[in-house]
Amino acid sequence: MVILGFESSCDETGVAVVCTDRGVLAHALHTQAAMHQAYGGVVPELASRDHIRRIVVLTRQALVDANLKLADVDALAYTAGPGLAGALLVGAGTAQALAWSLGKPAIPIHHLEGHLLSPRLADPRPAFPFVALLVSGGHTQLMRVSGVGDYKLLGETLDDAAGEAFDKTAKLLGLGYPGGPELAALAQSGDAARFDLPRPLLHRPGFDFSFSGLKTAVLNQLQKACKAVGVDAADASVLDTQTRADLAAAAQAAIVDILIAKSVATLDQTGLRRLVVAGGVGANRLLRQRLLDACTKRGVEVFFPPIELCTDNGAMIAYAAAERINAGLCDLSHDQSHAFTVRPRWPLSELGSPTASDLG
Ligand code: ATP
Ligand code: MG
Ligand code: FE
Repeated sequence: MVILGFESSCDETGVAVVCTDRGVLAHALHTQAAMHQAYGGVVPELASRDHIRRIVVLTRQALVDANLKLADVDALAYTAGPGLAGALLVGAGTAQALAWSLGKPAIPIHHLEGHLLSPRLADPRPAFPFVALLVSGGHTQLMRVSGVGDYKLLGETLDDAAGEAFDKTAKLLGLGYPGGPELAALAQSGDAARFDLPRPLLHRPGFDFSFSGLKTAVLNQLQKACKAVGVDAADASVLDTQTRADLAAAAQAAIVDILIAKSVATLDQTGLRRLVVAGGVGANRLLRQRLLDACTKRGVEVFFPPIELCTDNGAMIAYAAAERINAGLCDLSHDQSHAFTVRPRWPLSELGSPTASDLG
């Protein structure tokens, strides 16, 4: 089956064509990061309007790249939540309108399930069951994944997400949005040992995370460093590049240490031998390298999504639909009402096999 999938939960418009037996045939993506940069974060109304501007163009591009026509599409898929309501409605409305006009089913997908299953787009492909470390802009969770739709939450962040910790620290250091990739780049020339930052909950039992104290600690170090050059505010622009790089490296090392310690503890406790990393922070090179080292030492296999599919994209949404179809979890009837709604807040634990009626 050929699935045309849409992602529009936040600030990426993604459209992809995925085949249930041949994988990704094409994916087209537009990121709004540059547009939101001036505001230091995503402006919801601007995001929705930009999704409207892009989604048809990207749909045409994905179909041309896949060498297919709309008539070749067997099912539509879209992110139904969680995310920004107005932004979600653009992808949902487009998918449902196409489904109605083509007489095909539309499949609502949970955004985090898209992230979670995306490492199965890589070669080699992780088999179930596995431990998933989901590290994105809004979530940091450890899960036991026993099969498609069978997810058990083992631990999560009590405050900020790992991506948020990267973004907020980057902002303190005067870097742009999103801060993760910029902070990682600056950290490359830094000495992580120069600043001593805390690793909250590191040695506590349990698999929960906490990152908000880390951000405060970076702010304290920043203030101290600014004072040392005679400036009484936390203004990173007065600092030399090396000091900023050292702070960036120390922050990155602290975040990565916490993620590794909790992942390893989860692997030890569950006895599972596979770790899968998903979400935007999964693109971080230090995290990838350190996890690979820690897992290799334990004889555990570790899997990552292709780098370009770590952050939001349409391929992971169309692919999650393909996995659901292959697992027999989808309502593929052609007489769907195509009435739809989106769920801006939607805990993954409430995910059964979502149909449009479940979402109402
Ligand atoms: P969610 O999926 O939880 O709703 P989201 O969709 O905004 O949130 P993603 O697109 O998965 O999140 O990831 C974006 C996050 O990943 C941002 O916080 C960004 O800073 C972070 N990120 C991206 N690349 C890197 C990197 N190389 N190093 C660290 N963080 C990164
Ligand atoms: Mg984004
Ligand atoms: Fe995401």
